[in-house]
Amino acid sequence: MKNNQQKTILITGGAGFIGSHLCKRLLGQGSKIICLDNFFTGSKANIKELMGNENFELIEHDITKPISLKVDQIYNLACPASPVHYQYNPVETVRTNVIGTLNMLDLAKEANAKLLQASTSEVYGDPFEHPQKETYWGNVNCIGIRSCYDEGKRCAETLCMDYHRQNGVKIRVVRIFNTYGPNMHPNDGRVVSNFIVQALKNEPITIYGDGNQTRSFQYIDDLVDGMIKMMENEDGFIGPVNLGNPNEFTIKELAEKVLKSISESQSKIIYKELPVDDPKQRKPDISLAYERLGWRPEIKLEQGLIKAIEYFKKII
Ligand code: NAD
Ligand code: UDP
Repeated sequence: MKNNQQKTILITGGAGFIGSHLCKRLLGQGSKIICLDNFFTGSKANIKELMGNENFELIEHDITKPISLKVDQIYNLACPASPVHYQYNPVETVRTNVIGTLNMLDLAKEANAKLLQASTSEVYGDPFEHPQKETYWGNVNCIGIRSCYDEGKRCAETLCMDYHRQNGVKIRVVRIFNTYGPNMHPNDGRVVSNFIVQALKNEPITIYGDGNQTRSFQYIDDLVDGMIKMMENEDGFIGPVNLGNPNEFTIKELAEKVLKSISESQSKIIYKELPVDDPKQRKPDISLAYERLGWRPEIKLEQGLIKAIEYFKKII
């Protein structure tokens, strides 16, 4: 049943890692949720507990095809996020980011809805500026194996800004830095899930390169808080804004922390070839998010890893 104040919120990619957490949180806040997904990397298991809720609707659909819906807000998350998955069919990754985002912006225009675009720290590429501020234009290889995702996401940001300037569409753009937590796919290929699953199975921990490259890891609950704050702000602040945890670690340090948290693991660290164009460093400057949204992450890596490990123990 929809009352007058109740918002209808579309979450594309809602059956994926981040999307499933957003669905759950926004449903808990009393909104009507439409979860739209083509199940390329998402799964029904991620949204199973929400399926019986009368305010939750699942639509199996690909955002590269137009769709017409009556909604108040759109969180546009549909897109594979792990390098392994987005490189599997790079042309489809570009199509999802460009044609898919275009379709969602057309929907926002038609429905007079606000659209929040899930952009990424990858728009900074292999950055020369460190930490990365929103004003940095980035260092992206436009013909490399990561560019289907990086350039796709950069074009999606362009589309959002142009729909805003040209058509007055209400947009919000968040640049998400490496995020981890429950509901990540165990074979997702991203570093946190890989290391935890390897440690739990007593398999070798695979560090790519020498392990001195850095990333800054954010726990999922902090990200969800930031995304909702950004969507709800009515100060005229459309972004882009960085959402990430500025605590920076080398990949070797991450491997050591995972092994320390799973003390019974017999896993040993092994070194494999570094993928092409793998960024050497990444750390968000989050002063803008703090100043405009009063947001900053609360959960330390050690605490978040414990929660993620509990989840993977249950599912593998
Ligand atoms: P995920 O792979 O778990 O989720 C992506 C979801 O989108 C999946 O459910 C997938 O089935 C769906 N999807 C993919 N293509 C689609 C299409 N054409 N039509 C409909 N559904 C489609 O990834 P995630 O980590 O939850 O990432 C969600 C969003 O956040 C992505 O846009 C990603 O680029 C962005 N992001 C994530 C991170 C991170 O660290 N997790 C960092 C930066 C940006
Ligand atoms: N990585 C690694 N071992 C793995 C998976 C990833 O050493 O099993 C490295 C990867 O080369 C990169 C970092 O960890 O330097 C983060 O990789 P991820 O795919 O999680 O995200 P992204 O590169 O998009 O930040």
